[in-house]
Order: sequence, then C-alpha cells, then structure tokens
Amino acid sequence: MDQNNLEKLKEELSELYHLSSAVSVLHWDQEVYMPQKGSDLRAKTIAEMSGLIHNKFVSPQFGKLLRIAKKDSDDGKLSDSDSCIVKEVWREYSREKKLPLEFVKELAELESKAQGAWTEARKKSDFKMFLPYLKKIVEFKRREAELVGYKDSPYDALLDTYEPYATTKELSLVLEELKKFLVAFLLKIKKSKVKISDKILKGSFSVEKQIEINEAIAKKIGFNFDAGRLDVSAHPFTIHFHPDDVRMTTRYDEKDLFSSINSTIHETGHALYEQGLPAENFGTPLGESISLGIHESQSRMWENIIGKSREFWKYFYPKMQKEFSAHFSRISQEDFYKAINAVKPSLIRVEADEVTYNLHVIMRFEIEKDLIEGCIRVEDLPKIWNDKVKEYFGLKVPSDALGVLQDVHWSGGMIGYFPTYTLGNLYSAQFYNTAQKEILNLEREIRNGHFEHLLNWLRKNIHIHGKAFSAGELVEKVTGEKLNSQYFIDYIKEKYSAIYGIKG
Ligand code: ZN
Repeated sequence: MDQNNLEKLKEELSELYHLSSAVSVLHWDQEVYMPQKGSDLRAKTIAEMSGLIHNKFVSPQFGKLLRIAKKDSDDGKLSDSDSCIVKEVWREYSREKKLPLEFVKELAELESKAQGAWTEARKKSDFKMFLPYLKKIVEFKRREAELVGYKDSPYDALLDTYEPYATTKELSLVLEELKKFLVAFLLKIKKSKVKISDKILKGSFSVEKQIEINEAIAKKIGFNFDAGRLDVSAHPFTIHFHPDDVRMTTRYDEKDLFSSINSTIHETGHALYEQGLPAENFGTPLGESISLGIHESQSRMWENIIGKSREFWKYFYPKMQKEFSAHFSRISQEDFYKAINAVKPSLIRVEADEVTYNLHVIMRFEIEKDLIEGCIRVEDLPKIWNDKVKEYFGLKVPSDALGVLQDVHWSGGMIGYFPTYTLGNLYSAQFYNTAQKEILNLEREIRNGHFEHLLNWLRKNIHIHGKAFSAGELVEKVTGEKLNSQYFIDYIKEKYSAIYGIKG
C-alpha cells in the first residue's frame, strides 16, 4: 500500500475543500450584502473559481492519486475511514468524468437562460413561454441519466445527485403509502367540525423585536453565535464554510411574526448539523453532511416536531407574550398552538402546513419521474398538474403561476431534488421516535427549555459521523430499522387527530 499516495490525495482534497469554502463565501455575500450592480462580476468570479475547482478535480494528477488509492481500498489495504473517503470521492469523480465538458457547459448555459424564461413566464402566468426551455431541460436530464448510467430507472441517476444511494423503486413505494394516508386524512380534517384559522397570528410586529426573539430562539436551541451568524436575505438559507463558521439567514415580515420564526428555526436545524460535523475531518467527506434528505431531517425536526409542539411553546410563549404583549396578551397558549398548526390545503407548496406539504412534494415526484422515464409529455404538464391538485387537495388551479410554474427547481435543472424534502420529514419522525425512547423525559426537558439533551443526541448519533454512512445505513443504525413512513404517519395522525377532534 502507498501511504505517501494517500497523504498526497488528502492534501489535494483539502485544497479542493478550501477553494469550495471560498466560493461559498462569495455565494453568501451575494445573497446578503452584495450591491445589485455587482451581480455580473460576481457571476464571472464564481464561474472562474468553479472552473478552477473542476479542473483540479478532474486533472490527470488527481485522477492518478485517486486510482491508486481506489486500488488500495479494493485490496483491503486501507482503514475503514480512509476507505470511506476514497469511496465517496470516487463516486463524485466517476460521475464528473462521465459527463463531457461540452455537455456540462451547454447545460449550465441552458439553465441560466431557462431561469430567465421561467421568471418571465411566471410573471405572465403563461406556461407556453417556458415550454421550449423545459423541453430542452428534460432532454438534457434524460441524456445526463444515460451518460451517468443506472440500474432500473433513469430517474435513479438524477436522484443520486441529491440523495446518494436512494432508488426510485423504494422511494415510490414509501411515497405511495404516505400519499394514500394523507389524502384520506386530509378529507377527515376537512369534514371535521373544528375549524382553525391562523388569522390570530397576523398583526403588527416591530422588526427590531423580531430580530431579538429570533436570535434568542436560535441561541437557546443551541446555535453557537461564536461559530456562525444569522443575517437577512430574500430567501432564507444556510451555508457553511467550516463547522466553525456557519451562516444562516431569515426574513422579517412586519405583519407576520411567525414567518421569521419558522424560517429561523428551520435554518437553525440545518446550521446545528453543520456546526456538529467533526471539524477534525474537514477537507474530506467524513467532515461533510450525508445527503439533502438527512439535512432536511434536521431542519424539519426542529421546525415542526419541536418548533410546533406544545412543549416548545410552553417554554417560549410566555416570553413572546411579554415581548409582544399588545398582540398576544389576549390569546391563550392553546389557541396559539392550534393557530400555528392550522391545516389549510393551498395551491402553493412553500405555504403548506405539515399535513399537506408532502402531497405537494409527492405530486412533483410523480411528474418528474414520468417525464424522465418518458411516460408523459412536457406540453401536457399544466393539465397533469391541475388534475393532481384536484385529486389530492380538492382545489382548482386558476392559473399557471399558482400551479405548474410556482417552483424554481425545474428551470435550474434540479430534477430529483423534490423528494429530499419529504424524505427529510420521514427521517425526522423516525429519528425523533428513537430519541424519545433513548432520552429520559424528553418532553419535560423541552417544556423546561432544556434543548441540549436532544441536540447532544443528534450530535452523537447523526452529526458526528459525517458521510461515514449512507442515509439508508444511518437510519438503520440509529433506529434499528429501514426507512419506514409509518413513524411520520403516526406522528401526523396523533397530533392532528387531537387538534381536529378526529376519532378512529
Ligand atoms: Zn431546508
């Protein structure tokens, strides 16, 4: 075995990670501070830097180091952790090598044009304006799947970018089961005599006070402000440079306090994962998050399972009542709890509640999969979309803008991304079920404002491993069984049957 080779490979890798960190700083600055006029220059700077990273990664020199390490690993000469590093880098490397540079460039150019076209088409609510671009994107993505290769469905090859090792077949089964439950359960909620509105949450809330309470919540649940920041951007996001420097953003709406709180808790969940990754493994996959689905399981556990629970607000609501006494002094904690959990089937995914959210994702998954497998035509999308909305939500779609044109993903070529949102919800319920069994009096701790028990559990069971396991392996390791949608189904059934007085 060539120890020297492995060390050299790790050095090269570390350089690549540092360069990527620098690109992340540029991205963060672009969203948070950059003046509008800077956008052309920034796009070029980022493109130059990304080109540099790509060339270094696919260079003959790097390829040689990696191939020798791969052989050592195949011959069983490497430690488990080194083998894991080589396996993950090899996975990325072979994917990049399979895509010709011309193809990558053409696709990037198409995506940038398609995003412009999508923005215009959405403004005018006219799918036909976007149609030629989306047709090309789907063509390119089908070609990408052929170039990368797959076993069963070409969709596997695309899903793999966002949720490595997941398969279309398994995913379809899990989502089908979830859909059956959700459609039936939503009908029961609609028929319930209990009607809940979230109107009482709307009012007038000073942004200064909102900033204070958002920072206080993020800090209390464990975000380390010495190793990160919370800023403002149009679309909230989290980006990391290193576990010691994690940036998240939120947005403030004077009329809607809960919009900022929701996003802040969600992004804090992402940021806690990033801050919890092992810093000593920075510069290798062992210092990286596993997948978008696992990432989303962290944000959604904090945002929904914790952040919309009675226990959480038992601790925080009195503080909020004090801060915004003019608004909340006359609203009981119970009414507040119900309002933040109101179920309201809506046309727009990003406004959806916990119960209906996954139906939005499932219909997008079904459409994407059929497009990539060639079972439906792009020109038929508005009708297919509107039919599904009618069937799953019982709603009529009045325009393309409120329907098929609402999400940015397809215009950016992000086909295979949507399912990771729902996977996150499913993982989070399954993880939380285990946490409840393993942490003594978890609910009581949360009621008393002790979030460190849950955070430590997540650190120890999930964050610390980096990419040592695939998402599927991790779920099995932590919970003792494969991904099982029943945990999420039970969670929803129990919580919302109580809120809506549903029996049986
Ligand atoms: Zn997220």
